[in-house]
Amino acid sequence: MKIFAAEYVLPVASDPIQDGAVVVNGDRIIGVGGRDVIAAHPQAEVVELGAAAILPGFVNCHSHLELTSLRNALDDVEQDFSAWLLRLNGLRAELNDDEIKAAAILGAQEGAAAGVTCFADIGRMGFAGLHALKEVGLRGIVHQETEFAPEDANAEEHFAKLVDKFEQLREGETDLVRVGLSPHAPYTVSSRLFEMIAQFSILNRVPITIHAGESASEHELLTRGTGFFTDVYEKYGVEWYSPHCTPIEYLERMGVLAARPLLAHCVTASETDVARIASNGAAVAHCPKSNAKFGHGTAPFEQLLDAGVAVGLGSDSVASNNVCDIIEEARFASLVSRNRPGSRRFATAREMLEVATLGGARALQMDQEIGSLEVGKQADLTVVSVESAAQKPVNDIHAAVIFASNARDVKMTMVAGKPVYERE
Ligand SMILES: [Zn+2]
Repeated sequence: MKIFAAEYVLPVASDPIQDGAVVVNGDRIIGVGGRDVIAAHPQAEVVELGAAAILPGFVNCHSHLELTSLRNALDDVEQDFSAWLLRLNGLRAELNDDEIKAAAILGAQEGAAAGVTCFADIGRMGFAGLHALKEVGLRGIVHQETEFAPEDANAEEHFAKLVDKFEQLREGETDLVRVGLSPHAPYTVSSRLFEMIAQFSILNRVPITIHAGESASEHELLTRGTGFFTDVYEKYGVEWYSPHCTPIEYLERMGVLAARPLLAHCVTASETDVARIASNGAAVAHCPKSNAKFGHGTAPFEQLLDAGVAVGLGSDSVASNNVCDIIEEARFASLVSRNRPGSRRFATAREMLEVATLGGARALQMDQEIGSLEVGKQADLTVVSVESAAQKPVNDIHAAVIFASNARDVKMTMVAGKPVYERE
């Protein structure tokens, strides 16, 4: 049994505690409170963390750990999303399995050092993300991604291959790391394949995540059948018919939203789309920095929250966002939502901390186990130091963590009671 004590404890599901402590026994939290919880467990070792805040671990709801070696490698084509996607696939194809695995480990280590305890990762080479999370000791779901499969004609073949990879990955599942599926996006997955994956997900309770409503060009392709990928379809002789509706409506029509997918981006989601997401109980991985980096715009963040949608934050790959820093992501999410034309209200620092932790846990349907510091939950903790000159004085601890800190202020990260990162 160990007790972690610090100037601040932010349980998220309840009010902040000044001079607080968290009691950990094995992989679980058995006490959260003021200094009195220390006296209640006289045999426990006490770890004094000083000027710091103990938080639930950050949940990164959208990453591609396998792309870590492509950091800063595609910045020159970001202004053209389809060129970016094609270059990405070209560069990824040049990497061998060992290089991809090594890169994914570096990405998972970067996450651990940034206070991320749980990843929802997507991998064309799912084995790399799975291996990386296990090596570093992190929690998460690794989603095996589809290949380029926009035609109904070979949907059965693609589905069989996908399930094959999924079954192989599943043999490597642990208590901490589970496996899911990712039909990549409405423009690379045929409707038939989408339907098969959705049915499989519902019948076998397999989590799925999809890039949806990411860009205006995707929206144009789906609603009008013009622009964006039409050149690529032509070049490869692909037959693809526009559904003439928004990406979110398309997913609903195919029965995909009924599988309660985690939808990444949702930048172009209309008010009706937000209602569709909410009524189906689907969730959103909000990736504001990646969206801004591509100039894609801003998702209706506070509208999604106010509609009761489970929203978590995603760094996306470092090939677009360049860093995995959930504190920076939370700060940026708040700022751009305040500054977005049509913004309904201000997202506060306290609310952003909740989105970065419990919101992400809800989005992954893991909030029974993680996302807040509560007795009985898993001991997934992040400790953010607040002793640097840039953070002082700490007049408001939520503002200090969200608006005056970044990943480099994380001093310790713990998953299921085991440290996965300790700053020297
Ligand atoms: Zn992505």
